[in-house]
Amino acid sequence: MPTSTPGPRELLKRIRAIMAESQGQDSDAESRLNTITTDIARNMRAEVCSVYVLRADRELELFATEGLNPEAVHKSTLTIGEGLVGLIASSARSLNLPDAQKHPAFQYLPETGEELYSSFMGVPILRAGRVLGVLTVQNVDPRIYADVELEAMETIAMVLAEMIGAGELLAIDRNGTTLDLESSINVTGASFSAGIGMGQIFLHEPRVVVSQLVGEDVDTEIARLHEALDALRLSIDDMISSDAMRADGDHREVLEAYRMFANDRGWVRRIEEQIRSGLSAEGAAEKVQSDNRARMMRSSDPYLRERMHDFDDLAYRLLRQLTGRDHVMPSDIEGKDAIVVARNMGAAELLDYRGSSLRGLVLEDGTPTSHAVIVAKAMGIPVVGRARGLNSLVKNGDPVIIDGDEGTIYLRPAQDLEAAYSEKVQFRAARQARYRELKDTPAISLDGDHVRLNMNAGLVFDLPQLAESGADGIGLFRTELQFMVSSTLPRGDAQQRLYREVVEAAGDKPVTFRTLDIGGDKVLPYLKQTAEENPALGMRAMRIALDRPGLLKAQLRSLLKAAAGRELRVMLPMVTLLSEVDAVRRILDAEVRHLTRHGHELPNIIRLGLMVEVPALLWQLEDLMETVDFVSVGSNDLFQFIMAVDRGNAALMGRYDELSRPFLRVLKKVADVANRTDTELNLCGEMAGKPLNAMALLALGYRSISMSPASVGPVKAMVQSLNIEALRRELLPHLDAGRFDEVTIRELLEDFAAHNGVALD
Ligand code: PEP
Ligand code: MG
Repeated sequence: MPTSTPGPRELLKRIRAIMAESQGQDSDAESRLNTITTDIARNMRAEVCSVYVLRADRELELFATEGLNPEAVHKSTLTIGEGLVGLIASSARSLNLPDAQKHPAFQYLPETGEELYSSFMGVPILRAGRVLGVLTVQNVDPRIYADVELEAMETIAMVLAEMIGAGELLAIDRNGTTLDLESSINVTGASFSAGIGMGQIFLHEPRVVVSQLVGEDVDTEIARLHEALDALRLSIDDMISSDAMRADGDHREVLEAYRMFANDRGWVRRIEEQIRSGLSAEGAAEKVQSDNRARMMRSSDPYLRERMHDFDDLAYRLLRQLTGRDHVMPSDIEGKDAIVVARNMGAAELLDYRGSSLRGLVLEDGTPTSHAVIVAKAMGIPVVGRARGLNSLVKNGDPVIIDGDEGTIYLRPAQDLEAAYSEKVQFRAARQARYRELKDTPAISLDGDHVRLNMNAGLVFDLPQLAESGADGIGLFRTELQFMVSSTLPRGDAQQRLYREVVEAAGDKPVTFRTLDIGGDKVLPYLKQTAEENPALGMRAMRIALDRPGLLKAQLRSLLKAAAGRELRVMLPMVTLLSEVDAVRRILDAEVRHLTRHGHELPNIIRLGLMVEVPALLWQLEDLMETVDFVSVGSNDLFQFIMAVDRGNAALMGRYDELSRPFLRVLKKVADVANRTDTELNLCGEMAGKPLNAMALLALGYRSISMSPASVGPVKAMVQSLNIEALRRELLPHLDAGRFDEVTIRELLEDFAAHNGVALD
């Protein structure tokens, strides 16, 4: 035992040397752990140093010790919360006790011989805020360990966390027990897009692994930190002042919060303190973040937990500055059966991943009607949303199954579960094959009504689905998607090219092009917009079109040219007043005149329709049906406005049901007037794609609905097994009757389907 302590900095250097040496010599993890415990004990003048690792059965197993009975290694265990070690694991907090035996949580483990020791210091081994084990030292004589020693222990615990996280301890033979980090976990989220995805985790914003934890020189590391912070602040300022951000309230707020954190003196001071205790700048940033995380994860305050995400993001940005590591590239997933995990994602970011290797998407936040999810549905990939905290439970490459039907994520699944899911995938494939057989059959109900099943689309890669799904046409072509995935405003000729491709792919099948529906949650980075208090009720769609007619004119001209010699169907989103339709019609007529004057061939018929999304239209229905050639209910927006429920707010998801009486009465009112006036009627929101919801729509009088291509098969199977008139007779009396607490008719529909053999899967 040395006579004087070399100090914590010295200790950190020695630990780094052990790691470096042993890597070179290819020594095994067990002997490295032993060397580390011996070295810590010697350096801290402690008689005991031990490492406990958390197993999958939530037991903390003694993995290495200097000073306790070596026979106890891999035998002695504590449950979480049991004894001092268990307390550290359950609270994720360090303990520094001069007389451990006086602590109420102290527990005597006879096999270790620890009754001889009185002083105890223990720290949690944390990785991304998650407890993986506990590191302790003990002394015979009562003593208080200095703060710098505690800091040094916490830092060494980070080195151990990386060893455990990298799977190095798995090779140690311990009669088949597994570690917690490798255990199977089920995470319940919400079903955003149906289907099953099997593959491996690919983090959209991956953790940066800090390999250089220990610093050589304090001044150099502090200078590096400040350089990185300056670069970070500059990049945040740049983002805030960019045109894109000026237009987008949400992002702007997040970035303003980042800017505030990035200038937070407390945060910077804590990182500097860690550097002074011997860490590299990145090691210090990671340590402070891990501590923050552990603290915030235990907090029940939702505001704090939400801030945790922001702090995480900021810390990752700083780490990336310090390590010079960039984002992973979407192309990195190639050949990997990737399940991409992100906090949230825009439609354009998701499209970057498109290709045969993308098997599924998990969002920590997001909502089912957000645009990334709509695009995911178009791509036919399952999505599980609201998987809070998943990022901190996984690492790149972890095996995973996501069940988009149930909204469940099975992390590192056991073999039998994997086998069960493989079978389920085969079963689904067989079902898909059955749907394919239905492809060329008409959607005729048992009582002989023909239902048009259209599909929604918006990008070129949707087009092959028209033939594959057997859809009757494109009921909604979201033209804004081309604008959203492009980094500059698509010019008229680019628009015309896309529209031409669409009409040619559709052949005889009709296509309804919706004019640009931007604003709200659909942001175009290159289009200047002023920040709005309430974007969903702000400058959107029709309002932008009429204020900036240049955009609308260019689009209508492109559409007219692309549909030369065919039928052109144009649909207007977010109409509030019929005078807006008149204004568009004037612009359209002027474009027709312009093209005629210049000798262009025109479409042989032009139909102008609108979307029923704004409730004000419900009191203009008779006039509306006279004004336009067709109407299509945009149930996503109509529901959001009728129920006053933000479609993008995850906290409100599932609170109100589309099958509730008030909303169904609204839908029936539109259908009644359309049918009475013989106006073509369609519904193209997400509800059309769910067989049970589609059943209700048929009973209300809808005979044309539009959905994602993957839903066409299941909805057709439902139509072909349903007697619409029988359902109508049963359902309609319930629509106006019923108590308020029986507001949804979901159960009624389910019972009807069960008793009448309606295919609902
Ligand atoms: C709708 O609102 O129902 C709709 C189809 O339009 P979007 O989802 O593109 O807003
Ligand atoms: Mg809409």
